[in-house]
Amino acid sequence: MQIDTLIIGAGAAGMMCAAHAGAHSDKRVVIVDHAKSPGEKIRISGGGRCNFTNMYCDPQAFISGNPHFAKSALARYTQWDFIELVDRHGIAWHEKTLGQLFCDGSAKQIVAMLTGMMADAGATLHLQTSVQSVAKSAEGFAVALQTPDGALQIQTRNLVLATGGKSIPKMGATGLAYDIARQFAIPVTETRPGLVPFTFSEGRFVPLAGVAAPARMAADGPSFDEAVLFTHRGLSGPAVLQVSSYWREGQTVTLNLDPQNTIAPALRAQRQHYGRRNLTTELAAHLPSRLVDFMKDDWVLTGNLADQSDARIDTLVDRIQNWQLTPTGTEGYRTAEVTLGGIDTDALSSKTMQAKDVPGLYAIGEAVDVTGWLGGYNFQWAWSSGMAAARAIAAA
Ligand SMILES: Cc1cc2nc3c(=O)[nH]c(=O)nc-3n(C[C@H](O)[C@H](O)[C@H](O)COP(=O)(O)OP(=O)(O)OC[C@H]3O[C@@H](n4cnc5c(N)ncnc54)[C@H](O)[C@@H]3O)c2cc1C
Repeated sequence: MQIDTLIIGAGAAGMMCAAHAGAHSDKRVVIVDHAKSPGEKIRISGGGRCNFTNMYCDPQAFISGNPHFAKSALARYTQWDFIELVDRHGIAWHEKTLGQLFCDGSAKQIVAMLTGMMADAGATLHLQTSVQSVAKSAEGFAVALQTPDGALQIQTRNLVLATGGKSIPKMGATGLAYDIARQFAIPVTETRPGLVPFTFSEGRFVPLAGVAAPARMAADGPSFDEAVLFTHRGLSGPAVLQVSSYWREGQTVTLNLDPQNTIAPALRAQRQHYGRRNLTTELAAHLPSRLVDFMKDDWVLTGNLADQSDARIDTLVDRIQNWQLTPTGTEGYRTAEVTLGGIDTDALSSKTMQAKDVPGLYAIGEAVDVTGWLGGYNFQWAWSSGMAAARAIAAA
């Protein structure tokens, strides 16, 4: 079969690309996926409501070997463009927090929008289809596929790698895009799990499992003001997931449980009037009581408010604001929302996502070494990079 464009991976980026690469022309666009349904990560994302973009999307919310790489694609297909698309398809949405936009109804509406757009554009979707081999040919690429109906040989002018990252192998994540990139001598940077909970040595936070608190957290990068959640295995919650993308094995993370700096002034003020009140009773007015119980034992907090000198209060609050913790690891790809690293951006055009040295080969979405923060940024990268490749293919 001779076609114009073959897209491998019917996820967020691949479907966005497939819906626009043919530009309603007679150019044949085929998209394949080994899963039974397209867009499975979209379907389960955002607790089933898909956090499809972020109103404050900005290149600084992306991690990459080249922090400038994402700028062009993000500027040429913005969060406002995607919001306009969602509006045009009558999908109702709301802002949850921090500019994060979710469907009012279901993430399935986003999948249906994309599959509908692909069908309207004349792109053909083959599910339960695996890639047997890829080779360079005179016209472009020769790709051997195994479909439920048997083997299929495809000759394609353009080949788009859109198989995402390695996160959640149970859902069918593979490193196929990396393997094909390497086959064409395109480097792949070190990959590791991102947006993932931290684990701590056996039982460290078991007494706190289920406790959540607002916090400021940082590793070797920006700090994030969001909730942290103590779990049986360690630490989770949005602030922790964000920081995990900047953390490396062996590093310490700083947990600030008093980011608004309210505890020291309150302890001093209450000491004036309620000197006989227990220190931990007062602390429990500012922190979850199970956390205070844990600190009482772990940090040996004793005495009533009158016993607390200014210096003691300062030392205690410094500990609450600069709790140094060293995770033993992360929960890994099993639960990571994204994969850091990937196809080296140096090898790609930031405008078109085409490989600089392999004409006709494109890489988009999470497979590329561009990873967003938690909060809709990763889908925006999928839409923007998918669109960048589609526009280049349609214009060629
Ligand atoms: C639980 C969870 C929740 C998330 N929630 C959000 C959220 O709310 N907002 C947000 O912005 N991001 C979220 N993300 C991240 C987001 O889902 C990804 O960044 C995004 O889906 C990446 O798009 P993609 O098209 O590059 O890859 P994917 O959407 O992962 O698509 C890749 C496709 O390739 C297919 N594939 C893989 N290997 C092969 C192969 N060998 N042969 C054939 N097909 C293959 C897969 O089946 C899949 O359909 C979440 C991730 C997870 C895991």
